[in-house]
Amino acid sequence: MSDLRELYQELILDHTKAPRNFRAMDNASHQAKGHNPLCGDKLDVFILLNGDRIEDVSFEGSGCAISTASASLMTEMLKGCTREEAEALFETFHHMLTEGSPLPEGAPEMGKLEVFEGVREFPVRVKCATLAWHTVHAALEKEGTVTTE
Ligand code: ZN
Repeated sequence: MSDLRELYQELILDHTKAPRNFRAMDNASHQAKGHNPLCGDKLDVFILLNGDRIEDVSFEGSGCAISTASASLMTEMLKGCTREEAEALFETFHHMLTEGSPLPEGAPEMGKLEVFEGVREFPVRVKCATLAWHTVHAALEKEGTVTTE
């Protein structure tokens, strides 16, 4: 278990140091701002939808290690997903962080997102880990600005 924990920490560290898809998008079809006042995390999420599919997704902003790594991993997971698949991932991710295992029946594979399962032990950090996801949800719903409060 400790090896696994170490591996997870490395993955989070890697995404914190070199966040993937960390850029603004000029041709975004959807975008929203996210803010977690509890920690001070702020980010902008950009999505390019092609029909019902997320062709590209990126983010910019500043936040703690957890929020940055979560946003980075999220962009990797969401590229190529349909809106419906993205919502299912968000719901399952949220379930994993708030209620833990087992995941609901028929839930999508969490893959690398499982690294955040340990965050459940730190309720304050759950908002850091879910901020990017809430923001994507808001962008797709065209809600504009989202806050975790
Ligand atoms: Zn944070």
